[in-house]
Parts: sequence; structure tokens; C-alpha cells
Amino acid sequence: MTRSEQQSAVRSLILRLFQDPFTGSVADWCAANVEFSEPGNHGPFSLAGREYIIEPLNDWGDTEISDCVEVFGSQTGKTAKNMAGAAWSLANDPCGIIWAMPSERLAQSFSETRWQPMLRATKLTAGMIPEGADRHAFKNLEQRIGGSLINFVGSNSPSNLASRPARKLILDEVDKFDEGGDKEADAVNLLEQRTKAQPYPFRVKDSTPTIIEGLIWQEFLKGDQRRYFIPCPHCGKEILFVWSEGFTALPKQGCESYVHWDKDAKKDGKWDLDRVLATAHVECCHCKGTITDADKPGMIAKGVWRATAKAVLGFRSRQLSSLYACSPETTFGKLAVKFLQSVNSLTGVQGFINGDLAEPYVGQDQGGHRTERIEVSTPIDGWRRIITVDYQQTEPFIWWVCRAWNGGNSVGVEAGSMFQFEELAEAQKRLQVNDVDVFVDSGFNPSEVYSVCLLHGEQIQRQDKLPLHFGWMPTRGVDGDRDFYNKETKSKVKWMLEERDPHAGKSAAGQIAIERLLFCSDFYKDILAALRKQKRDHTWTVPPGMATPVYWKHLDGERKVQRGRSWIWEKRHRYWPNHLLDCEVAQVAVANFFQLYMLDIEQKEDK
Ligand SMILES: [Zn+2]
Repeated sequence: MTRSEQQSAVRSLILRLFQDPFTGSVADWCAANVEFSEPGNHGPFSLAGREYIIEPLNDWGDTEISDCVEVFGSQTGKTAKNMAGAAWSLANDPCGIIWAMPSERLAQSFSETRWQPMLRATKLTAGMIPEGADRHAFKNLEQRIGGSLINFVGSNSPSNLASRPARKLILDEVDKFDEGGDKEADAVNLLEQRTKAQPYPFRVKDSTPTIIEGLIWQEFLKGDQRRYFIPCPHCGKEILFVWSEGFTALPKQGCESYVHWDKDAKKDGKWDLDRVLATAHVECCHCKGTITDADKPGMIAKGVWRATAKAVLGFRSRQLSSLYACSPETTFGKLAVKFLQSVNSLTGVQGFINGDLAEPYVGQDQGGHRTERIEVSTPIDGWRRIITVDYQQTEPFIWWVCRAWNGGNSVGVEAGSMFQFEELAEAQKRLQVNDVDVFVDSGFNPSEVYSVCLLHGEQIQRQDKLPLHFGWMPTRGVDGDRDFYNKETKSKVKWMLEERDPHAGKSAAGQIAIERLLFCSDFYKDILAALRKQKRDHTWTVPPGMATPVYWKHLDGERKVQRGRSWIWEKRHRYWPNHLLDCEVAQVAVANFFQLYMLDIEQKEDK
């Protein structure tokens, strides 16, 4: 069928459906025809309260438009929008469609639990599903329906489609297409190739963003960067909903109106979340009027997408945060509480910035000034005292920190440097630290550190195994972010124990085993940085005697910088010492290992 034949087929179909001349808008067709049938979402597709999807939907029917990039926050209905657009396409503009998702498993489940129930509930598409002998043409991942062929595919296996042309392409959650590597771009390229030789190709990419270099944000920048302007219910002037000045990475448009809540809702340094929930609102930047959740639907209905950048014709991009979503989960209050909880969570605020604000992470939470608490030690009888050591090949060889821990709170005891491990043993005795609470970094010279550790502690006899050393323990920080699994608590952790033979390769080999604690350095550096800023629900203090210029110099020896797709900790300068920082990072890791505080990642894995 040629393009004009298709279009006349569409026109006649529309005229059959509607007695009155139909304007032909995709959004109107969807609102009149599409029905959902999935858990928690039954009934007709509705635009009410999310009129911001009208324009993106109508792009499906506009031959001038080849690319749509949507950077939308959670709860904004972007999947429903894609489903409705694709249903319109099946009925009105049949063609090959590829729908790509991060994994094939996800695509399979989406097709079974959301897409096919919608096709069956929607009268016009239900009638197109092949039956009888042809029914085998309608499978989970490949469906011949009417004049269309739709393929669901995981980003991990796009080459399966190398020979399959498609005029329309939906790339869903592209920033999750490949975990961290550059393969993501390859997968997207390969899929886009499928549409290249087609007349009137149409590509939709959507995702919550990750970082600026991530694929979706780069695609957003290629487009005309539309934002959804809405009228203030008080003064009628156009505004944009934006979280806060410090948290937006988008260029200023001059009408950003930010979220506020009762500043007195903070007691003893802690937010009263019920009051935050009740008082959160947006303040109009023009008239200072208070905008509440009740104002939202009326404002959204009158909103308009405006381009904020020039782009090649037919390349549209849009950004929309969850502040615009009229869902019970995205009230200003719920989002404010979620934000405050994420700030205080040990894994931080990036998930909120990406998922809810639909903005890339640019270190929004990394700014600030010295906020460490320098305090005369509070009584710490009964607190667990831990010594961590960084062992170097250059004088003074040994850098160490002693801290006391209790219930997630920590008080510094002493820090410094020395030349010999005998001196460390004396300090350990003076500070009343147990052998099992001394941890020595073994990165520089493992076998020497093993030998030193064996001198402090005892041996435990084990059945059918070598006796195990129980005392000073070697440690090692590892680069990169990794998850380990704690069999005992059945949870994800950022450390692991490995058993070593301290005499491996020597004549004394095979007599005793020693355990070494490995931990993800960068992960615990993040947590230390948060503790130092007093941003968590824990206190972390440094006593005046420990707060020397040398101590702070070491602690500021690294900063977090962006390298490619990720943020890493990097030394400020090759000659800037960071040994006491390493000791403090090890303190945080060891305290977590001893479960002196818990991380919010340590949930039991779902079956
Ligand atoms: Zn106003």
C-alpha cells in the first residue's frame, strides 16, 4: 500500500467510525477507542489530568515528525501514552513496529500483562487479532495484527532483528539498555538502522535520565527541548514546576516556580514529615501565590508545550517531572517527603533526581561547606571501638584512626601516624580495643600484613578445615561498584570476606587460614561524605584533639568527579596525602560489616 492509499484508508476508517467529520487527532482517537485491562488500570484511556500527553500522541500521526524524545518522570503515564499511540498506529497507519525494552524478559512480560490485554479490550484492535489457522502469527514477542507486524525485543538481543525493517520504533527506558557500558549506543544504533530506509520513519525514545552523558539526555539536547508551561491559578501568568534552584540542570526560563514547605517543620534537626506532607506547595514566581495539589489538574489542562531550543525539523524532545503528574503518589507533599527521606538515606538522592525530577544527576547533592561536627567526646563507655590502619611503603608507614560506634552514631577517638606495629599494639591496649576490632589495609604488601595480623589474636580449630586466625584482620578496598551477597542475612552488601592462606607459596603454607575483608571503596566514600555533611540520620563527630590540619588535609584528599558515564572518587593531586581518609573509609566499611548501622540496600532479595 502506498502512503496516499494508506492515508485514504485511514480517512475512510475514521469516517466509518464517526458520523461527524473527525479532526483526525491521534489523541482524540485514543480517548474514543483505547481501553486498558490490567491490574490497577481498567477502563477507557483518559487524557484528563495528563493533557501533556496530547501533543506527544499527536506526533504519531504527523508525517513531518520523525523523532520524539521524552524524558518523563515516574507516574506521568508515558507507557500508557506509547501503548495508545501504537494502538492508533495498528488501526490507522499499519506498518512494522519494533518495541525495544531493556531486556527481553521485560518485553515478554509487558506484552503479556499490559499490551495484549489492551489490544483485546480495545474493540477496534481486538477485531484485528488473527484467529483460527492464523492465530500462530500472534505470539508474545512477534505479532502480526492487521497490516502491521510488531516485534518486542530486549536491548540485549537487538541483532535478532537485523533483517527486519520497521517504520516505527519505540525505545523504552533507553538509559537502562545496557548497564554502564557503551553497548547501549550500539543497540540503539542497530535498532535505528531498521527505520533508516523507510519513508516517514517515526522513532520514540523515552527514559528517566541518569547522567548528562546518558543516551536519553544527549538525545533530549538534540531536539527542541520542549517544556510544559502552565498558567498560575492566581495571576494567570505562565510558570514551570521545578523542584528547587539548586537541583535543576535545565537552562533557566525565568518562570521557574519552586516547591516549598513549612520551614518550622524541623525540630531538633529532624523534619516533622507529617507537617512537610501537609504544607508542601509550589509558590508562583510571579505573584507568590500558593499553588496546591488541588490546583494541578486545572493548570495541566491549560498547559502548553513550548520549545526552548532550536533543532532540526521533525526532532522533538520533551522533559516533564513527576511534579506535573496528578497521581496520589506525586502530590507536592509526597514528593517532599520522598526527597527528605532520600537525602537521609544511605544511598542518596540520585534516584529522586532521575526518577521523579526527570533530570540528570550532576552532583546536585555534592556541594556545600565544612559541616563536620567538632565536639568534645560524649561519654562512650560501652561503644564499640574500632581501629583501622593504612599501611604505606614510605615513612611514617602506619596511619591509623580509632573511632567508637554505637547505633549508627560515631565519635572519633584518636588518629595519627607511627613507624612500627608495636606502637600500634600499645595504642590498642591503651584505648581498650579488642584484637578483633583492629583492621589493617593489605593493599600494599599483603603477605607482610598477614604475618603482622597473625601475631595478634587466637586460632579457632575447625572441623575438616584449617584452623582460622581470629584477631587483627587484613582489609582491602576494591575499586568500582559491586554487590556482594550476605548468605547469613540473605541481603545485598558492599563487602565480602575471603579466606586466604597467609603463608601461600612458602614452606609454612597449609597450616592456618586468615580472613580478609574486601569492601567497595567508592561506595563507602559516598557514605563517609554524607556522614561528614551531617546529612544522614546519624551523627559522626571529630574531637578537637583529632581535628588537626593534617587530619583535614588527608580527609579532603579526594573529591568526586565525573568520568565518562559515572562519578568516581579521585585524588586531588598525586602528592596530596589521603591515608587518614582511607582509614575513615575503612571505619565506615567495618562498622557496616559489624552491622553497627544498616544500609537501605540491605533488604532481603525478593524471590
Ligand atoms: Zn501567580
